[in-house]
Amino acid sequence: MSGQRLGIMGGTFDPIHLGHLVTAEQARADLGLDEVVFLPAGQPWQKDDDTTSAEHRYLMTVLATAANPAFSVSRVEVDRDGPTYTVQTLRELRAQLPDGELYFITGADAILNILTWKDADECLELATFVAATRPGYDLARLEAEGIRAEVCVLDVPALAISSTDVRERFAAGRAVRYLIPREVEEFARKHGLYGTDGNGLALGGVV
Ligand code: ATP
Ligand code: MG
Repeated sequence: MSGQRLGIMGGTFDPIHLGHLVTAEQARADLGLDEVVFLPAGQPWQKDDDTTSAEHRYLMTVLATAANPAFSVSRVEVDRDGPTYTVQTLRELRAQLPDGELYFITGADAILNILTWKDADECLELATFVAATRPGYDLARLEAEGIRAEVCVLDVPALAISSTDVRERFAAGRAVRYLIPREVEEFARKHGLYGTDGNGLALGGVV
């Protein structure tokens, strides 16, 4: 579709949580986006090797976004061999939508990483970068790097949720309800993704 305004929400999504979903929805509303496509990363090269399989992370992302007509999930990074490079994905999306506007949505913490890559200039030409502020994050850090002028800053309601905390809660047998969608919680338990069995009991527990 020509002239489409497409939001791109990249992430490891291990697992996807309400912080991701609120941020994507806020970007859609504030920037008047037609669609937000979630892009679960393939084999993450900046993260530990114990990252959940791309297929499981992809399926959790589908479960979490299925009910929103403006949300979709792309398999491009999941299906690509080798490490994930945002610039490559942006080039592909740009080729598919030559007349469209691309908005790459990230947390303010992640944007610093991305914009210090060697391909940062090309990334900034291909898409407008949208930095969602996250609780505890100091935007002065972006300014100090001279980055703020080149990105669009999006204020999202304070949601101090992270996938790291959700994984730790699963492993410790603590509640994750209301931090991640119910469907994602049930899927993670069914497949024992985060050290829990099908009953939600920590592995090595009483059963
Ligand atoms: P981890 O703790 O494993 O790093 P994460 O919660 O940061 O996970 P990612 O998949 O790494 O999740 O993040 C994907 C994108 O979503 C990144 O751009 C990140 O900055 C952003 N993000 C993550 N959590 C939030 C949140 N609570 N509010 C706004 N943006 C968020
Ligand atoms: Mg992160």
